[in-house]
Amino acid sequence: MPRRGEFRVSVTKDYLVFASAHFITFAGHRCEGLHGHNYRARVTVEGALDEESWFVFDFVILKRIMRRLCDDIDHKVLLPLENPKLQVVEAEESVTVAYEGKPRYRFPRSDCVLLPIPNTTVEMLAELLATRLRGELEAMGARGMTAIEMEIEENFGQSAVYRVALP
Ligand SMILES: [Zn+2]
Repeated sequence: MPRRGEFRVSVTKDYLVFASAHFITFAGHRCEGLHGHNYRARVTVEGALDEESWFVFDFVILKRIMRRLCDDIDHKVLLPLENPKLQVVEAEESVTVAYEGKPRYRFPRSDCVLLPIPNTTVEMLAELLATRLRGELEAMGARGMTAIEMEIEENFGQSAVYRVALP
């Protein structure tokens, strides 16, 4: 019997967190000071049921991938590479950050992750993690999924959601 409804599965776990430092720039000439959050990720995958297992996707695999994506940016300073107001320069042992041309921070290289985003807002982090998850799923040949939704919370009750439909 064909099923008319749709299915989705979600995971959010105690370990799908990353405690990271960041700052964002605002419109005009305002830039936050460095601070941190205990970010939490929640991912939802929508799609057709796998014909043999009767699930949309294997929770174990989804949790494993998400844990790795969170661990990659855990206990790091998150720096955006595509912000026209920030100049992030990598050297062998350090990363220097200037805001509108004025030197602002110098971090040990190993404490930083440089991200291909314009600002480390929860919106951009949600899109980045969704894109990385999508890449992992495609690389492993996962099929049948119709959408990924990624929620990143930076404080209790304060989060952004990014949703992408898959072709
Ligand atoms: Zn913040």
